[in-house]
Amino acid sequence: MPETAGTLYIVATPIGNLDDMSPRARRTLSEVDVILCEDTRHTGQMLRRLGIGTRRVSLHEHNEDRRVPEILDGLRSGRDYALVSDAGTPLVSDPGYRLLEASRSAGLSVSPVPGPCAAIAALSVAGLPTDRFCFEGFLPARAVPRRARLEELAGETRTLIIYETGRRILATLRDSVTAFGGDRPAAVARELTKAFETVYRDTLAGLLDRFEGDTDALRGECVLIVAGTRTPVAGGPDIRRAMRVLLEVLPASAAARVLARLYGIPRREAYEMTLRPADD
Ligand code: SAM
Repeated sequence: MPETAGTLYIVATPIGNLDDMSPRARRTLSEVDVILCEDTRHTGQMLRRLGIGTRRVSLHEHNEDRRVPEILDGLRSGRDYALVSDAGTPLVSDPGYRLLEASRSAGLSVSPVPGPCAAIAALSVAGLPTDRFCFEGFLPARAVPRRARLEELAGETRTLIIYETGRRILATLRDSVTAFGGDRPAAVARELTKAFETVYRDTLAGLLDRFEGDTDALRGECVLIVAGTRTPVAGGPDIRRAMRVLLEVLPASAAARVLARLYGIPRREAYEMTLRPADD
């Protein structure tokens, strides 16, 4: 690699409040040769407010593959680039992965300018366990795959972070109650760092109740945080005892459905357990 090769900076930008822009992010955006934007107009508005006039080029999911070779050439010839998304940290449910992967594979320099991220901001105020968590991003938009994914997540013991839109949160809460049980502690953090920032903390059933009665509360962007299951993991003595009792009165498929709901495990896993009830 020539010594003059440039650097690709991954720059986090505010998720609502412009004051959250770090001095280093601001400096990087004014010093690089090109800013790669998910949406040049959206980022243009932000840059104008910051008095930054750096050239902007679009990089979104539909042109990323096409743009990568020319950006790699630019980096090789010494140009510095900053990648930004519409809000928060690029690549977190946002474009940039293919560019990153290609830059790393080509041995080019990539450097983060960390800052806001809705997932971490929501987790930090949800009041749910933060020692172990997992980021699920967006669930499938269509009902059938979404429900299937939630069923798969029902046995997760770490706190779950799910991105949602105000429009879909009600459907996701309904499906979460079905998959995880209504008494699972959860939080919805909406419009973080903005004028109407609100964090609701309740059980899943309580949150569903809250939003069903107040559709105004559903406007804007939100993050759903769900506590991990605390029930014994599949195969523990309690779940096996429960299964044996259930099998005395129910067919295997119905027993598996009840177990999956009660213990927060995937239905498939519960069904497999009913096939070997003698194990302990
Ligand atoms: N890259 C961004 C980040 O670092 O958070 C996330 C981009 S993703 C396309 C957009 C989703 O992030 C929204 O649907 C919502 O779930 C969440 N989000 C973004 N800004 C938010 C905010 N101010 N308050 C709550 N959630 C937000």
